[in-house]
Amino acid sequence: MSLGDGPARCTFVPPYLLQQIAAAPGAGVDAPTAAVEAAQESLVVDEQVRGERSRAAAQDAPHAQATGGAWTVYTSGNGTSLPGTRVRGEGEPASGDPAVDEAAVGGAGALALFAEVYGRDSFDDAGAEVVMTVHYGRHYVNAFWNGAQLVFGDGDGRIFDRFTRPVDVLGHELTHAVTEHTAGLVYRNQPGALNESMSDVFASCAKQRMLGQDVTQADWLIGAELFLPGVNARALRDMAAPGTAYDDPVLGRDPQVGHLDDYLDTTDDNGGVHLNSGIPNRAFHLAATAIGGRSWEGAGAIWYDALAGPDVGPTTDFAGFAAATVAAAGEHAETVAAAWQAVGVGLAGSGAEPPPVLPPPQEQVEVRRSGGFVGRTVSGRVDLTAAGSRAERARELVDRVDVATARGGLPHPDMFTYTFCLPGCPEVEVPEQELSDDLRELAALVLDADDPGSVM
Ligand SMILES: [Zn+2]
Repeated sequence: MSLGDGPARCTFVPPYLLQQIAAAPGAGVDAPTAAVEAAQESLVVDEQVRGERSRAAAQDAPHAQATGGAWTVYTSGNGTSLPGTRVRGEGEPASGDPAVDEAAVGGAGALALFAEVYGRDSFDDAGAEVVMTVHYGRHYVNAFWNGAQLVFGDGDGRIFDRFTRPVDVLGHELTHAVTEHTAGLVYRNQPGALNESMSDVFASCAKQRMLGQDVTQADWLIGAELFLPGVNARALRDMAAPGTAYDDPVLGRDPQVGHLDDYLDTTDDNGGVHLNSGIPNRAFHLAATAIGGRSWEGAGAIWYDALAGPDVGPTTDFAGFAAATVAAAGEHAETVAAAWQAVGVGLAGSGAEPPPVLPPPQEQVEVRRSGGFVGRTVSGRVDLTAAGSRAERARELVDRVDVATARGGLPHPDMFTYTFCLPGCPEVEVPEQELSDDLRELAALVLDADDPGSVM
């Protein structure tokens, strides 16, 4: 397996990833790490998803089966059909299935925050039913909003627990739906990092409100219950101290940054949306703790007014959003401005140019899978000059695929993005739901180098 054995010239893979996979115990040809196996298993699920069909099902079925309640939980039964089989609706008793009941509690809590505090009638402000599907895929290590519904995997049973377990994952995904229906922040670079930050901000507000915590009692962690015992992690992200949530032999070290000086220029993770979101996350924490009281009433109300107001749109950057929060802050304007200044964000335009894309090395194909709720990247390479059936099949696919037409639409929040580096071609990004059969097979072949047969 060609994972993490040195920087590839065509990539901007964050150093943490190459290090974490290379340094992981057993990360060799014969003994892939648990993390690598989990990535492979999620790829099996991706393989089963046929984008258009899946999206059509997600968009049609909820309306066909709507019950009129504020939310409904379905199960995919470890398959990939969406929304799957209906299990529990609003007002109905607990099902006894922890994933279903966790989704119900977390989803209802997040909906209540928007309704009762900000006067927002569901994510679309028009009373849309929130459809949530649990038990998606087998060992699926992700959760996402696909433009129509929320979807949650069960985790891999080794590193990641159920993605429904932390209530803030529910709040995070629901907020993606809110953002789509308000500012519509594009899911890339600074607007994408703001999109991610909005989800963490209101997830944390919802969690603090459900727990009855003020800003001094809150832990400011995202995904605190996501990791199984034995993983050296407090959480997935720490809004108060980005970059400190975990440091583990397999996971590596939390790569988030918390100051604009440390902004990560990368093409992975849709331009580092889960990495640079630490900057606006920390600004929110600083503003919330300076204003005091309860986060959802103080800084949360200001952030919501900015998100839903006329000054923030699809391409708003950090500085633009900062200005909108200051404008919405009233008596707290100076406090909010100071919070943004503390993370290096002024109130005028900034803008970060993406780095140049280098041509890929010749005679090899590289595939990276980045993004996802966790924001981690896995990669693999195949030497096209090598002997053997794997290299032979890779050559057939590389000759056949047309990467010039493969570039897909915008990624859905928290769904995976695949990057293909083929000989002689600029690298191309394809969202999970846009993969052609050939690209899907190529990705499976390259990322699951030990046993492509198990993926296909
Ligand atoms: Zn997200």
